Amino acid sequence: MSETREVLRVAVLGAGGLGAAATRMLATKREMTHVAIADSRGYAFDADGLDAGAVADAQATTGTVGSTPGSGVATGDAIGDLLRHAADIDGVFIALPNLPNDFVPTVVERFARHGYQGVMVDALKRTSAAELVVKLDLLLAHVGITYVVGGGATPGLLTAAAAVAAQSFAEVHSVDINFGVGIANWETYRATIREDIAHMPGYDVDAAQRMTDDEVQSLLDETGGILELRDMEHADDIILELAGVVDRKRVTVGGIVDTRNPSKPVSTTVTVTGATFDGRVSAHTFTLGDETSMAANVCGPAFGYMKAAHWLSTRGVHGVLSSADVMPRFVR
Ligand code: NAD
Repeated sequence: MSETREVLRVAVLGAGGLGAAATRMLATKREMTHVAIADSRGYAFDADGLDAGAVADAQATTGTVGSTPGSGVATGDAIGDLLRHAADIDGVFIALPNLPNDFVPTVVERFARHGYQGVMVDALKRTSAAELVVKLDLLLAHVGITYVVGGGATPGLLTAAAAVAAQSFAEVHSVDINFGVGIANWETYRATIREDIAHMPGYDVDAAQRMTDDEVQSLLDETGGILELRDMEHADDIILELAGVVDRKRVTVGGIVDTRNPSKPVSTTVTVTGATFDGRVSAHTFTLGDETSMAANVCGPAFGYMKAAHWLSTRGVHGVLSSADVMPRFVR
């Protein structure tokens, strides 16, 4: 298919573990220019492209990208203020904490009500949060936003792999995702870890959001830094159901997160089991390379989906799509 020749001007919402990794990744891309980044205390914007090193230095020194010399602005409403530059932003990667559970959907709605016309991709994890975004389909289609929900790793890369693997089967019996994540310390990915704790027995999203950093630390001390997660409420299920691959009840997601070691505690796999048209039952398993980090497996697909969404938007496709509806396009 034809290639788009433009360079997309990209904004990253959130400057934590994933947002900072997205900044580093964008610095290596010639088909995308990183024009904006926002955190809870400010934002940085430069229509000609941000200096990734200056953004990182400012954040390391002051704790906010809003102090970046030349491009930074300190503000308590970075997203609202950044919207003033909406006409100079082609694509938005949402790497915000989804705490509370409707936070990211409200940010998406805010972009739409502002009249933003561009593409947006999230790395949402929860089924209930993805459902809230899916409900915005008509609004986003009306405004002219092309949106990919669940464009990270799981959901995202693994969900897409499941949708491809399913093609060998006449009927899919199950999709089983098991992820392994290793990070050197939990503070680099506070939202990710809090949202994972919300899946543990006895916790929910509100309880995880209320936990102080000290409380998270003592929970991790009790578990030796390991989080074992089973039967998670992960949007891979609704995404595969909406794409017509399999009923959501047949999708299971679990994983092991080591918050004290960057090596993966287990390999990340997705296994699709089904029956073929000629009566055989079999399973395809896709395994991620152990050396690939969570950041690589989330930000890479997110930008691939952004490129695909932009390509579709130029062909008049708008509204909410999922990571199982479209193939990410490779960003050079
Ligand atoms: P983090 O806690 O490290 O960083 C969050 C960032 O958002 C911070 O920079 C913070 O200042 C900023 N922020 C918070 N409120 C804001 C606001 N109102 N306006 C502007 N900025 C604001 O987060 P993280 O660990 O990088 O995770 C980001 C998201 O990615 C989480 O929702 C997590 O669940 C998701 N995630 C998805 C996958 C996947 O595979 N789908 C994997 C990992 C993480």
